[in-house]
This record gives sequence, C-alpha cells and structure tokens, in this order.
Amino acid sequence: MATINQNYWNLKESYLFSEIASRVLSYQKAHPDAHIIRMGIGDVTLPLPPAVIDAMHKAVEEMGHAETFHGYGPEQGYHFLRQAVGDYYKQKGVCLLPEEIFISDGAKSDLGNILDILGQDNTVLVTDPVYPVYVDTNKMSGRSISYAQANQQNHFLPMPDPHLTADIIYLCSPNNPTGAAYSRQQLKEWVDFANQNDSVLLFDAAYEAFVTEDLPRSIYEIEGAKTCAIEFCSFSKTAGFTGTRCGYTVVPLELVRQETSLNKLWLRRQTTKFNGVPYIVQRGAAAVFSPEGQEQVKHNIDYYRHNAQMITDTLDKLGIWYTGGKNSPYIWLKCPHDMDSWTFFDFLLENAHVVGTPGEGFGSCGEGYFRLTAFSSHEMTRTAMDRFYAILRQK
Ligand code: PLP
Repeated sequence: MATINQNYWNLKESYLFSEIASRVLSYQKAHPDAHIIRMGIGDVTLPLPPAVIDAMHKAVEEMGHAETFHGYGPEQGYHFLRQAVGDYYKQKGVCLLPEEIFISDGAKSDLGNILDILGQDNTVLVTDPVYPVYVDTNKMSGRSISYAQANQQNHFLPMPDPHLTADIIYLCSPNNPTGAAYSRQQLKEWVDFANQNDSVLLFDAAYEAFVTEDLPRSIYEIEGAKTCAIEFCSFSKTAGFTGTRCGYTVVPLELVRQETSLNKLWLRRQTTKFNGVPYIVQRGAAAVFSPEGQEQVKHNIDYYRHNAQMITDTLDKLGIWYTGGKNSPYIWLKCPHDMDSWTFFDFLLENAHVVGTPGEGFGSCGEGYFRLTAFSSHEMTRTAMDRFYAILRQK
C-alpha cells in the first residue's frame, strides 16, 4: 500500500483568505448596494511596464522562426538575465558572479524548494507574525519550528537571542506582513549569529525595491553574508510579474556546510527537477533592467508608495500606531480601541466597507494588529481612507 507524507496532517487549514472571502461574500449578499474596497490583497493592480511588453512581443516573434526559436533553455536561466541581475546588484555595491544567480518562476517556489538541499533534521527559526509559506513548507517535511516573537517593543524586528539557536533562519525585510525593515546594524547581528552557529540564513528580499530610506536591500550588503545566506527575490511586486512568474535566488559560491558547496547542490537540484523559466518571460524580466524599464518600474512603485502615504497620513491623523508604509507596500497597524484582529475586520467591513487582513492570521503575535496594502488604485485608496477616518474619528 502506498502511504502518504503524513506531515501534511500537521498543516493547519489555510483558513485566512478563505475566511475573509466568506465574510465578505455574506456581507455583500446581505448588503448588495455596499461598495466594498479590498485593501487586503497582496496582488498588484498596475499592468506590466511597456518595456517588458515590447521585449516579450519581440521574444514571441523569435519563437515563430526556426532561426531564432528557443527550446529548452539553461535550467538556471539565460546568461543575459543572470548578467542583468548581477549588474543590478552592482548598483547596491554587491558583486555576484552569474553562476551565483539562479532564475526561478518566482520566490515562493524557491523558498519551498530550497529545503530539498538542507537536512531533514535541521531546526528552523521563523518570526511570528510570519509569511505562512516558511512555516508550511517546513511542516510538510516534518522539521521542528521555533518562533522569534515580533511585537511593538522590538518594532516587529526580532533580534537573535542565544536561547533561539536554529540551523535554518528565515528573515524577510522589508517584511510581509508587518512592513518593518531591518537596519544594517541589525542584519549584521543576524549574519554574525548565523555564521557563529553555522546556520543558513534564508533571506527573502521580495520587497527590496520598496525601500526608500538608507536601509539594506540585499543581505549581501552585510559583511559576512556570503558565508551564511541565500537570498530570494522576485519580479512580482517590483515589476508586476505576479501572473507572469519570474524571480531569482542567489546562492553564493562561498556558502559551504559539511564541506559541501550549497551552490553546487542547488545547481544539481535545479538541473534535476526544474526546466527553467520560459524564454519569453526571461526576455520580459531582462527588460526591467533596461533604462526605460527601470524608469517605468520606478513610476509604478512610486504610485504604490503614494497609496501607502495616504494610508499612513490617515493613521497619523488618528493617532494609530503602525509599522511599514515607508519602505514597504504593507502597513501594519494596531487595532484601535484594543479590538482583536477579527473584531476590527468586521467593524471595518460593516462600517466602512473596507476589507483588510487580520494580523492574527499570520501568527499569534499578530493578534490585535491588522494589515492594509498599498496595491489598490489612488481613487480606491483615497475613498477607503476617507471612510476609515470618518468611522474612527467618531469612535
Ligand atoms: N515572499 C514574500 C514575503 C511574499 O509576500 C511573496 C508574495 O506575496 C512571495 C515571497 C512570493 O513571490 P512570488 O510571486 O515571486 O512567488
């Protein structure tokens, strides 16, 4: 008899977004005239930049002619894109070789897949609240997980603690869901901690392009990171690739555990289990780094930043505590009047017809907090914030 991976029995039902959808649906049914504004989703709303579309059109045309057709490509990505990513890192003062960069179909896949090359018995440390993918992928492989508590006292940026040793450490900065971003000095402490303990730091930089302050946008800006860290990045939020699918993972050649290069292991894993990202998509992704592409991407990110500013201005006026918004498309606020996360969700839905994400859904430390995103349109964000202000000013 075939047995199953019983670790799946230990997964909690991913109830968060289905519970939100069901509450919104029943409210809409009961109030068909209510104009509900969704400020909870993590998907972008602006289309792909024109430079990306042009490059993809050209690539489609190439695929239609025998002389320029592309079949299977290199599993780790075409050289033109790895080179372009490497040049982008140079702007951050980070030197990477093309063979340290692996093109992927998005950060989510690689964040899960990376566990293939790490020992089953490794212990894992994540923050609470957390991007749920880190937790579930480790539960699927039966690893034990401990949590570093993020809270108002540490500004939702937990620091290493000698009691919290772990073989695999996940950090996400700027963070989803809290929008908080680590400073250089704070990341240096994590890098030192990982090197001292021979841990591997899995650094999720999916939101690096949203950083506006003088904060690190790559873990490799921190001295010592190349001997302990793997970095995951994505074109999803930077350039609107959520539906197009492209990202990259950096595994430095200097990263060695048990006398084995993790770069070589990852290459072996990818060449065995992955057949690469479509040529057309990689051409589109490379166009993100062209001068026009960079200009257009900056324009889109500024658009979302403007939304974030509308949200944080409203919270400032109401005197509500929050993190995020400045260096991130996420704003993480303390629920007013000590409401719990779901009570505030219902309150906002019923009184302002605005939907956000209850912080409790990201971990127990998220209870009493709430996430709003800046990915809506200016008009929707303005209307949502006017309503938000009106109901909370009176309360
Ligand atoms: N990492 C974080 C922190 C995210 O919030 C997301 C998407 O929301 C991802 C990774 C996944 O990105 P991708 O679309 O590249 O799979």
